[in-house]
Amino acid sequence: MTSRVAVIGAGPSGLSQLHAFEEARKKGAEVPELVCFEKQSDWGGLWNYSWRTGLDEFGEPAHGSMYRFLWSNGPKECLEFADYTFEEHFGKAIPSFPPREVLADYILGRAKKNDVRRFIRFSTAVRWVSYDPATEQFTVTVEDLTGNETRREVFDHVIVATGHFSVPNVPHYEGFESFPGRILHSHDFRDAREFAGQDVLVMGSSYSAEDLALQSKKYGAKSVTISYRTAPMDFKWPQGIDEVPQLVKLDGDVAHFKDGSTRRIDSIVLCTGYKHHFPFVADELRLRTKNVLYPANLYKGVFWLDNPKLMYLGMQDQFYTMTLFDAEAWYARDHVLGRVSLPSREEMSADIDKWVERESTLTDDAGMIDFQADHVAELLADVDYPKFDLDLTRKLFRDWEHDKQESITGYRDRGFPSPCTGTEAPIHHTPWWEAMDDSLETFLNTPKQS
Ligand SMILES: Cc1cc2nc3c(=O)[nH]c(=O)nc-3n(C[C@H](O)[C@H](O)[C@H](O)COP(=O)(O)OP(=O)(O)OC[C@H]3O[C@@H](n4cnc5c(N)ncnc54)[C@H](O)[C@@H]3O)c2cc1C
Repeated sequence: MTSRVAVIGAGPSGLSQLHAFEEARKKGAEVPELVCFEKQSDWGGLWNYSWRTGLDEFGEPAHGSMYRFLWSNGPKECLEFADYTFEEHFGKAIPSFPPREVLADYILGRAKKNDVRRFIRFSTAVRWVSYDPATEQFTVTVEDLTGNETRREVFDHVIVATGHFSVPNVPHYEGFESFPGRILHSHDFRDAREFAGQDVLVMGSSYSAEDLALQSKKYGAKSVTISYRTAPMDFKWPQGIDEVPQLVKLDGDVAHFKDGSTRRIDSIVLCTGYKHHFPFVADELRLRTKNVLYPANLYKGVFWLDNPKLMYLGMQDQFYTMTLFDAEAWYARDHVLGRVSLPSREEMSADIDKWVERESTLTDDAGMIDFQADHVAELLADVDYPKFDLDLTRKLFRDWEHDKQESITGYRDRGFPSPCTGTEAPIHHTPWWEAMDDSLETFLNTPKQS
């Protein structure tokens, strides 16, 4: 009987997985039957922008956390598919920091080229995954959300690619109940123009806080106060944005901070992170982790230690995204195809410990970037993923970090060389801080002189 593989989620990670199998099949490999379950009605995961918050059209928790006017926050060269370059997709070199629609077009371009859509069952949510040691197979219970029908299917391998930036971590502070304005988590942030003219409090000190503070100011907020818990981001913020220590409480619309200062606030955006949340996976198979570079229990960052027939993709905190997903997907595929063999449980456990221990010693972004690059390099060493200049991407990330320190509003105005083709990216026609239109058409074409 043909073996069967379930891929859960048709976001970038799941699409990398389907693509990896398809590449092997095109080169003559006998591949298992693939079934990808996707709870949304379309593909692309977070890149499939939706205005919906709260619940989606099926009454499921809305998956989307992206917002209007989101531009890539890292150089696109550091996420370029080695087997499908930006130049191939767009027919020309494009600037290094594209808006969401452009990146979504690119990610889906490769998926369309290999027609992996045929493997996806849309509007189908996975409700439960369990394993039977007697049959050595998984039972996957799914619900067809359009027909309200639940059914079970049996698989030999399961690959979880459901992402981990959709279930918000929501803190509570004294005075939230009686605050007269809006309090929302970044998961529900959709359009910065909503905050035009307002005094906004952004809580957090990671990518979301950084970008939503900038977005809000760019699209007209009167002021943005960023409140940090441990350390400020310390960028050279444009006028109207500044950082204060942690919120202590709200008194009506007045926020009180740890340093004794107070500010009147109209709206609060909680950039307080997300939870890894896999309620559909049986207890003994469920990944429980914080947002780290190397979750414990995943050998090579992919294989569930106690049962490597279960794999997780893209579960790391991410500097690298598509490149990491591809490397993981290639490795997972080759495990399924029997091309790579995994060592004993003891050896896998010791290897995980080594990485986890190394992560605990990291003190800065440069170290974290190298750590993740080493992880990617280790995966790529064993698989036939096309060659590209991974060391160049380490340098690009370092340059990018440096550029952000120099100018948090200007770092996107630079071009980087492709690690796949060597082509230098052109500079975008409009500085990011002044570019209000994020459409694909405007991004790709030089604006006409009026
Ligand atoms: C606000 C924001 C901005 C970001 N910006 C960037 C950026 O600029 N550049 C970058 O490279 N990365 C960015 N990222 C990182 C992002 O994590 C990755 O780019 C990428 O989307 C991760 O892909 P994924 O497939 O692992 O997860 P996701 O994109 O989250 O896709 C997971 C898929 O699984 C499906 N799913 C979930 N549960 C189930 C279930 N039970 N049954 C069936 N299907 C299910 C979902 O519907 C979804 O389609 C950003 C993330 C966020 C939140």
